[in-house]
Amino acid sequence: MQTVKDEKVVFTFGGGGAEGDRSMKQLLGGKGANLAEMSSIGLPVPAGFTISTEACHYYSSHGGIWPRNLKQSVKDGIHFIEEKMGTRFGDSEHPLLISVRSGAAVSMPGMMDTVLNLGLNDYTVEALMRHTNNERFAYDSYRRFIDMFGCVVMGISHEKFEHALEDLKETQGVEHDTELDTESLKELVDRYKAVYRKATGYMFPDDPYEQLEKAVNAVFESWDSDRAVKYRRINHITGLLGTGVNVQAMVYGNMGDDCATGVCFTRNPSTGENRFYGEFLLNAQGEDVVAGIRTPQDIKALQNVMPDPYRELVGIGKKLEKHYGNMQDIEFTIQKGTLYILQTRNGKRTGHAAIRIASDMVAEGLVEKRHAVKSLVEPGHLDQLLHPQIDQKNSNGNAVIGQGLPASPGAAVGKVVFTSEEAEQAVIDGTPVILVRIETSPEDVGGMSAAEGILTSRGGMTSHAAVVARGWGKPCVAGCGDIIINYENNTFTNGEITIHEGEWISIDGARGTVYQGKKDVVKPELDEDYHTFMTWVDEIRKMRVRTNADTPEDSKRALEFGAEGIGLCRTEHMFFGEERIKAIRKMIVSNSLEERKEALEKLLPYQKKDFTEIFRVMKGFPVTIRLLDPPLHEFLPDEPEEIKKVAGELGIRHSEFAEKVRLLREFNPMLGHRGCRLGISYPEITEMQTRAILGAAIELKKEKIKVIPEIMVPLIGTPQEFRSQKLVINNTAADLFEETGESVEYKVGTMIEIPRAALVADQIARDAEFFSFGTNDLTQMTFGYSRDDAAKFLGEYIKEGILQQDPFQVLDTEGVGQLIEMGTRLGRETKPELKVGICGEHGGEPSSVSFCYEHGLDYVSCSPFRVPVARLAAAQATLK
Ligand code: PEP
Ligand code: MG
Repeated sequence: MQTVKDEKVVFTFGGGGAEGDRSMKQLLGGKGANLAEMSSIGLPVPAGFTISTEACHYYSSHGGIWPRNLKQSVKDGIHFIEEKMGTRFGDSEHPLLISVRSGAAVSMPGMMDTVLNLGLNDYTVEALMRHTNNERFAYDSYRRFIDMFGCVVMGISHEKFEHALEDLKETQGVEHDTELDTESLKELVDRYKAVYRKATGYMFPDDPYEQLEKAVNAVFESWDSDRAVKYRRINHITGLLGTGVNVQAMVYGNMGDDCATGVCFTRNPSTGENRFYGEFLLNAQGEDVVAGIRTPQDIKALQNVMPDPYRELVGIGKKLEKHYGNMQDIEFTIQKGTLYILQTRNGKRTGHAAIRIASDMVAEGLVEKRHAVKSLVEPGHLDQLLHPQIDQKNSNGNAVIGQGLPASPGAAVGKVVFTSEEAEQAVIDGTPVILVRIETSPEDVGGMSAAEGILTSRGGMTSHAAVVARGWGKPCVAGCGDIIINYENNTFTNGEITIHEGEWISIDGARGTVYQGKKDVVKPELDEDYHTFMTWVDEIRKMRVRTNADTPEDSKRALEFGAEGIGLCRTEHMFFGEERIKAIRKMIVSNSLEERKEALEKLLPYQKKDFTEIFRVMKGFPVTIRLLDPPLHEFLPDEPEEIKKVAGELGIRHSEFAEKVRLLREFNPMLGHRGCRLGISYPEITEMQTRAILGAAIELKKEKIKVIPEIMVPLIGTPQEFRSQKLVINNTAADLFEETGESVEYKVGTMIEIPRAALVADQIARDAEFFSFGTNDLTQMTFGYSRDDAAKFLGEYIKEGILQQDPFQVLDTEGVGQLIEMGTRLGRETKPELKVGICGEHGGEPSSVSFCYEHGLDYVSCSPFRVPVARLAAAQATLK
């Protein structure tokens, strides 16, 4: 048997030092690296050790076997903790009790399993009782441990333990768990052991080392659990070895009223306000806060109950913020008046908070602008800022049917569903839904991701639903105790009002309000902090960001979002107005060149007007206009009734028109008569479009408005195709300039969206003045996946791990990326000054933007709403 490269697999921390530090996230996981780091800066961290992610990887890739050196290293680790804490594992006098937690390099809230109070058995529980002088607490911990161990380690359903608990409560005639006396808890321990025995066929293990080994295995195995795999898929988390396992001395927040446990943020994670923020529970375990079982108190109340630990906690928060240069999310426990820090990590926050925190931390001198741009705001945060909000001005008369916590801002409107499966299905059917749950668990992440918004009736601001939704920027109202959810009837009620499954509701995640029916939503305002932050982004950014827009309105919006030109104006979108569609249909059904020219003549003024307006908006910035691209049948009707009607409008015989429609249908239209192939068959289309573009430019020149038109030929596969179209464009331009006595500068370039074009890019660059990668088609043709049909199987591919992500969303850097790299390199070998950009959907996706920067592209172009995201992603790419 091999060891993990014969290297260290266990790293100790606590008690005044650590063997690891924060740079070792990949090896120790985020939690392990942080515990080590915190210990090394002198924070009160209970002693422990971390088993490396390499050991987890070894375990999963060797069919569940530990690396050879792990067993002894774990023993040594336990001895280390024993020494630091003055306790012994399994000792009946001074027992050491430990927690076993997972922690991967990327934080995955609620994904991995945790076991607390490990080391308890019939003997150690007695010792715990004596030491704490709290019999009830000892047995309460013991029964919780058996429950957790049974569920997490042995996979027993939690409900079986709950049943035993409910049975006992009923016999005792009590309503709440807390009303059970010690004798009842002892009885409960026996009942839980019986549940364990029945479910597993084994006695509950009383050897602490056996407990530990089984728990470590369960954490290792949770890495490959369905919910963890699903979470990683949804969040595009790849390239990790596994999870670390953190074994640490337990400290207790439930030893009496001088004990507490809580979660706090160094700043408000919803608004970004620089005020200590959080929640705690007196006399409770940490799990109670996170699981939302009891509703916690505001952290400020801690100041009154335990002023010293509160002050120390606030001081540690400041120290950690400075140390990490980021807002922290801290888990703490106070045991008999002594504060322990259990965990700290960069706090998840809303987009609005991210911007405010970045701008405040720079102003407070805590971080540099570059650090703020690199680490304090994620591209997805900007996405959130642009999310719709409930229109407060327009009340619409919708009844308020609940008021909960403002867990994650943004407005969502959808039909009510009560299960994650229904939410996932509804999205496939194209129905917007709100997922309504009593509380959510990691099993729900698929449905949460699919839903427009989430509403829970239980749990606090740090409950699972709240944390996950905030991370995703998904609207969420949590802990809405006003409503009673009935899963059996598929309804929820608030007094007189009953909402059934399928009914519309609206939620306001920024205010915690739930409305009956559909509310109006409005776009958010971008505040001063946002604009300041974006100026820093632009100071750092080197790559340009343009937009894909084909209307003056979109162009205007994109300009407001910071676009520096248009990278793709799809001219076919301009053909859909009533008169225009008629004209293009006339052109399509023409039987002669004359007829076709006549029809195109009608289109010319429309196109010219559109271009004039767009140029006017984009004055001074380059505007790339693409010639007609889609197959012509897209402009014709499908249905027999429609065909008949359109024939009438066009004034041609029904049978003749129906035959034309039939002839234009193609088996593979995406690979058919489209792109430059149309311009080659019908050069008069290219002529008309050239006249419209350059005619518009001439008009503006007369108004002394600077325009930079770039005419782009789509779907080139050979240099000859490009040359033929360029000739038509140049000849038309020459004619137009002669006719008008005016001339303008323009460029002619091409899209690179067919793999062959990337392969012969050196030849194409002889004639082309710019390249723009059309990665939608390039992805389609490189993978051979139809853009329009791939959704049918891509979901399964991703689920099965055949693909890590949808290549139409996130650029396939390994395959399609090679073509981009090659196309750019070959093109610039011929023409060093060649301008190169990207205008496929990937131009607004952060990791793809980063790839484009690394490969020397001059710009990315994306839809208007993604422009800020692309600007930030481009700035972050320069800081990598
Ligand atoms: C592309 O193919 O990437 C592209 C931008 O063009 P379209 O999506 O219009 O085919
Ligand atoms: Mg294309």
